[in-house]
Amino acid sequence: MQAEILSVGTELLLGQTVNTDTAIVAEALSELGIDVLHTAVVRDNAKRLEDAVRSALEHADLLITTGGLGPTGDDLTKETVAAAAGKKLVLDEGSCERLCSYFAGGEMTENQIKQAMLPEGCTVLQNDNGTAPGCAFETAEGKTVIMLPGPPSELLPMLRERAVPYLARFSKSVIASHSVHVYGRGEAAVALLVDDLTQNANPTAAPYAKEGEMFVRVTAKAATKAEADALCAPVVEEIRRRVGNFVYSVDIDTLEETVVRELIRQGKTLATAESCTGGLLAKRLTDVPGSSAAFEMGCVTYANRVKEMLLGVPHETLGTYGAVSEQIACAMAEGVLRKSGADLGIGITGIAGPAGGTAEKPVGTVYIALSDGNRTWVAKKSPFGRTKSREWHRHTASSKALDMVRRYLAGLPVDEI
Ligand code: ATP
Repeated sequence: MQAEILSVGTELLLGQTVNTDTAIVAEALSELGIDVLHTAVVRDNAKRLEDAVRSALEHADLLITTGGLGPTGDDLTKETVAAAAGKKLVLDEGSCERLCSYFAGGEMTENQIKQAMLPEGCTVLQNDNGTAPGCAFETAEGKTVIMLPGPPSELLPMLRERAVPYLARFSKSVIASHSVHVYGRGEAAVALLVDDLTQNANPTAAPYAKEGEMFVRVTAKAATKAEADALCAPVVEEIRRRVGNFVYSVDIDTLEETVVRELIRQGKTLATAESCTGGLLAKRLTDVPGSSAAFEMGCVTYANRVKEMLLGVPHETLGTYGAVSEQIACAMAEGVLRKSGADLGIGITGIAGPAGGTAEKPVGTVYIALSDGNRTWVAKKSPFGRTKSREWHRHTASSKALDMVRRYLAGLPVDEI
């Protein structure tokens, strides 16, 4: 089966909205073993959309549209696609009732009902996160058409829970993917280590760079998910073996989730004192659902006076070594540990730039300390290569802190200066 994805929305062509829907749908189709032949973006214009739908139905077996299912005048997808595919729109009672109960007690404008008008005989894809239902149907020529809403928060669950089960019956094979996430070794270095594994056809293994990290995705195609997983397993294990303790997870996408899960598993808690990262580390930790079981407190201590007042950083140490120094990172980690009563404390201080660098401490110099009350480790991140942005320095410093915690929890050597 070959598919085309058609995203509808003028804002996508103006560059105001990044077309994440297409990527989400393409990934889901590849997991179903359905090849994506072509993707396109079309503006909110009935004639353009009709032409694009006709062309897609000529070339592909499956057309998936995203966006334009809402109540307003520029939401044209359903009527246009249905007309191009030779279907009438009829009122779907179930969707109508859902809309009425959604707006119960509030104001429901007349145009909302438009969303319950769906192609005759279609399978309704209920929207559990918004008002516009999606739909799936077969054309007289045996082509499959699926329409999904634009907002990714609505599209993603509808795709996973309703469209994928609808499509599963067309798929003769399934694809399973597993990702080996690596911190501390770059894409090029890991690519060399796993070069022979990347030559295989099934499973394939491909290295990808990710902001200050990298991962290797292993993908297999087989008749069932279990068989595809079994094909991936030995290759994943081999990558783990070769890359060693720089692998921080398999299939857990972020360092913060890996760390929070492990803290919870070990019943340990963490507190953070940040300067140049401005709370980014605390934000990343608290992005993880359930992090309250492991995260005690985070403070952003920018001014020296506040470092002294809140964390008990010694005035003389600040005077002797300066705020951006290993001594201050350690004092911050130890200070926040004392204040919070957590098991582990992190201190981060550095120069995120673009100004403030010196020959001795250039922009991108960051000291990161981890203390467990008995011992304090400190690492220094130095800039290298081309000039990087403020965001980059902040993000990679917070990643380094997370990796130090991960290493500590795993009983591995915690990187020191
Ligand atoms: P709604 O009921 O919210 O109007 P809809 O199906 O009509 O849903 P659109 O009006 O096309 O969707 O888009 C609504 C919002 O969804 C857009 O403003 C944009 O933020 C987001 N969106 C739409 N298409 C995409 C896309 N391809 N990728 C990412 N976001 C998108």
